Amino acid sequence: MYTDFQEFLSKELADIADAGLYKNERIIVSPQGAEIKVSSGKKVLNFCANNYLGLSNNPQLIDAAKKALDTHGYGMSSVRFICGTSNVHKELEQKIAEFFGTEDTILYAACFDANGGVFEPLLAAEDAIISDSLNHASIIDGVRLCKAVRYRYQNANMDDLEEQLKLAQAQRFRLIVTDGVFSMDGNVPPMDKIFKLAEKYNAMVMIDESHSAGVVGKTGRGVTELFNARGKAEIITGTLGKAFGGAIGGFTTGKKEIIDMLRQRSRPYLFSNSIPPMVAAAGIEMIKMMSETNELQDKLHANTEYFNTEMQKVGFDIKPTQSAICAVMLYDAKLSQNFAAKLLNEGIYVIGFYFPVVPKEQARIRVQLSAAHEREHLDKAIAAFTKVGKELGVLK
Ligand SMILES: *Cc1c(COP(=O)(O)O)cnc(C)c1O
Repeated sequence: MYTDFQEFLSKELADIADAGLYKNERIIVSPQGAEIKVSSGKKVLNFCANNYLGLSNNPQLIDAAKKALDTHGYGMSSVRFICGTSNVHKELEQKIAEFFGTEDTILYAACFDANGGVFEPLLAAEDAIISDSLNHASIIDGVRLCKAVRYRYQNANMDDLEEQLKLAQAQRFRLIVTDGVFSMDGNVPPMDKIFKLAEKYNAMVMIDESHSAGVVGKTGRGVTELFNARGKAEIITGTLGKAFGGAIGGFTTGKKEIIDMLRQRSRPYLFSNSIPPMVAAAGIEMIKMMSETNELQDKLHANTEYFNTEMQKVGFDIKPTQSAICAVMLYDAKLSQNFAAKLLNEGIYVIGFYFPVVPKEQARIRVQLSAAHEREHLDKAIAAFTKVGKELGVLK
């Protein structure tokens, strides 16, 4: 049997490569940070990590993780409800709820699991999910596992959301679902309007704060801070794998009864291992750090502002952003690949995105800013972008 299947896979893989869509992984041999070392031995500046606050290699978090290794061991060897719940798991759940101004939190191995396990236990065939067209793949998969009627609205389009909400009046319970930051453009949905529509059409709201937690809002509390709506969303999901330290882990935080029901019925929670205590302990330290100071957010916001302004000054076309994601528009798939390759030669590590990840004719380089970046890193990146931009005729 395998001979036939092997042939089939080889052909599919060749087709992927022919279409220019084959993903090669670059190998990093240093910790994650502003400056990283790749396997060739070359040092480059990293502008494509989700390491928004520079916490991936933070000494305070490493120390907290090491201490927990000594006090709590390496792993739990259990799901939460059997013998996989330690005091650090409970404490982190509490801290996350305090951070977002919610009532309770449930941890998962990843936000992919949080989103995969949130809809099916809560909603049934007589209910409705109204989902933004650009929501993350894990939301799409989670919705697929649920029998609720599905409605989709165009990205951040409030007229369309209203249309869908009118249609969804046919159902019993309604849940609007949106990312807090859309990862390709870096835009934030108009949460004030979403909450208004939710009230008018009697719906609940769920926000995936994976790219916004720690980043958006003056103190990094996410899009509910930005729109002065703390505690208003019934459900928030997020990851510990981006701004929050970058290791692993996800969560759902929100109304008490919702979290309680997820603990009873959410399949990725019931049937998958508990996160390592060291990761939970580092998470507690991370939230503690953020409740003491806004230094990292302030630096990230200043870096983002500086980079966007300077890039526009030299003539690049930047998508409007309200996050630490900066889409440098090139509009041509091949150009975006050439551009990224040339930037790597200049010591700047970024990735070009093109169809099907973004719409056709919308190819770009996505830059992600970090509090780990110093002004000299930003200047070096802007100079490299400018040089390559001139070489490739993007800038005059
Ligand atoms: C990254 C991301 C996820 C997945 O998070 P993991 O913890 O890495 O599984 C889910 N949703 C959104 C919006 C994301 O950006």
